[in-house]
Amino acid sequence: MSPLDELFASNVFNDSVMQQRLPKDTYRTLKKTIDEGRHLDPQIANVVAHAMKEWAIDKGVTHYTHWFQPLTGITAEKHDAFITPTDNGRMIQSFSGSELVRGEPDASSFPSGGLRSTFEARGYTAWDPTSYAFIKEGVLCIPTAFCSYGGEALDQKTPLLRSMEALSHQAVRVLKLFGRDATRVLPTVGPEQEYFLIDRSLYEKRQDLIFTGRTLFGAKPPKGQELDDHYFGTIRPRVQAFMRELNEELWKLGIYAKTEHNECAPAQHEMAPVFTVSNIAADHNQLTMELMKRVAERHHLVCLLAEKPFAGVNGSGKHNNWSMVTNTGYNLLNPGNSPYDSAQFLLFLVAVIRAVDEYQDLLRISVASAGNDHRLGANEAPPAIVSIFLGDELTEILESLETGTVYKDHGVQELAVGVHVLPHFPRDNTDRNRTSPFAFTGNKFEFRSLGSSASISECNVMINTAVAESLRLYADELEKADDFQSTLHDLIVREIKAHKRIIFNGNGYSAAWIEEARKRGLSNLATTVDALPHLLDEKNLKLFETHHIYSRTEVHSRYEIALETYNKAIHIEAETALAMVRREILPAVIRYTGDVAKTAASIKQYSPAFNTIPEEKLLTALTEETSMLSEAVDRLMIAVSDDKHPADLLSRAQYLRSTVLPAMDQVRVYADSLEAMVDRTYWPFPTYADLLFTV
Ligand code: ADP
Ligand code: MG
Repeated sequence: MSPLDELFASNVFNDSVMQQRLPKDTYRTLKKTIDEGRHLDPQIANVVAHAMKEWAIDKGVTHYTHWFQPLTGITAEKHDAFITPTDNGRMIQSFSGSELVRGEPDASSFPSGGLRSTFEARGYTAWDPTSYAFIKEGVLCIPTAFCSYGGEALDQKTPLLRSMEALSHQAVRVLKLFGRDATRVLPTVGPEQEYFLIDRSLYEKRQDLIFTGRTLFGAKPPKGQELDDHYFGTIRPRVQAFMRELNEELWKLGIYAKTEHNECAPAQHEMAPVFTVSNIAADHNQLTMELMKRVAERHHLVCLLAEKPFAGVNGSGKHNNWSMVTNTGYNLLNPGNSPYDSAQFLLFLVAVIRAVDEYQDLLRISVASAGNDHRLGANEAPPAIVSIFLGDELTEILESLETGTVYKDHGVQELAVGVHVLPHFPRDNTDRNRTSPFAFTGNKFEFRSLGSSASISECNVMINTAVAESLRLYADELEKADDFQSTLHDLIVREIKAHKRIIFNGNGYSAAWIEEARKRGLSNLATTVDALPHLLDEKNLKLFETHHIYSRTEVHSRYEIALETYNKAIHIEAETALAMVRREILPAVIRYTGDVAKTAASIKQYSPAFNTIPEEKLLTALTEETSMLSEAVDRLMIAVSDDKHPADLLSRAQYLRSTVLPAMDQVRVYADSLEAMVDRTYWPFPTYADLLFTV
């Protein structure tokens, strides 16, 4: 075995470990449970727990935890030792099936969006046997879902699993009509993760980075990303060392960390894993973000995952590459090699097109956050308007299907569904448009609007559920059809007609697109505050209800949590900005101004003949900007003073967006302009040049 063979998944209780360590029949039953998504027999759970504990103890582990994803956006864990006391004052190390399968963390401090006042305060965690247990920092971690006693989901994983179930159910119905024998369909995801690395000692000098994850101040450095010399550039030794260790840590956890490179902005990088089933991909992405932060610390670096840590250079996002695969190993978004495959592909393709068109708002909501508002629509990430990029070739094929005309190029003529093989789409043809939020890239779709710190669960819940809804309607119609071929053809043509407005292959950054999208009736929800209320639209509540993803109560709770999170984030940013100006920037500027004034006076005193015009010009500029800054600070203070905040969550969010954020921007303008004229030795914290060009 090569060192990598030995290292890879060495901290994962995966299939091969189970096969080695479990009795044959236990292994078979567990495998069946996992493959078929069934409930686990308690007897089996005891045997599995024992084997898991023995395996962990062999690796020096003393504690276990149920590892879950509450609605804070990060993961949660509470460690318990395997210790059980014995009569003789000693102990044994035990871990039972019930401890494996179910846990009861105190749920009362996790966000529940009102679910707690109406339901039981305590929640419970339940093992997700489809995601392997693993060892992290000497603790056995068991991936779990987290619910209230009433069964309401309090986490990101539960709805994701539900949406996978819904998608599978409907896709299998459709596949049956094509005579396929697949019994399950799994959504697959490969999330590309962007991040910044900066020096830890510099980070520690900035309150904004510590409290908000992004810089609230900072004048543009002489050089930003205009030379494009960082993108795919040589990776510097310190970053290389970080990446090497990160890869090793990820590999130990069985995460297929594959691609790494420098990104557009200075100090920005990306890691992409090989895709996998979506709930595993979501677990792995959470672990990846956690490990990026931890490994960075060991290298005296800080990993910034905020969406827009620096003004003036690109922010960080996450690309959610998505497809569906059958349990027989067939990618449903693969155009296929026979006429029959092509027809099936076209049906799944229009299912996605319909899903994105009907539920544009849900996709937008799934990527909405205070941080991501700085990216979407800022000509560095896709616009807030959701549209689909298909590439010219596929778009032309759909057009000729729609109009019943002959499509001459690429060897396809007289196109009718089920009669012709679609041409092969070379990847290169379809992947050039980086401005599209939702792009077809040969055999998968790439949703590019996610912010870098977001959990990928929510957007996948939306995609899976919306596509499940298309497939449900199609299956209903096709199951009743007398003539499958002609009904299929008519359905596809009708769907193209009904939903082609969502297809846009042009430049998503252009002003013309905003106007065109408006004419097409596409929604343009510019900010989080505009987007979130649509979560409660009747059509969306119905969608979730139909597919058993969220009850109405659960949607309401998520809506409230999202608003609350937004409000807290902006409030913390405003308080931090005020503290930095009042306690750091203003004092530094005043000190410097005083010293310049003293210098000017002493020059004059030395000899009135000397020219002090430069000092006087500087003093004029400094005092003018300082007084503007001071006034802007007064306005921000008034804006954030609590009594001005409306009580209900939505009005408060609207107020913060329309009043507090602009007041913060004003403060920043004067502070940044002062930074450019104050002696650098006086400036109280590291500048953009220090942060972006020193690692
Ligand atoms: P890009 O040009 O966007 O960087 P990559 O080739 O790096 O494209 O792929 C991006 C991601 O897409 C990778 O994580 C890859 O594993 C993933 N991917 C490839 N095929 C699929 C699929 N069928 N389903 C989901 N993700 C996929
Ligand atoms: Mg990509």
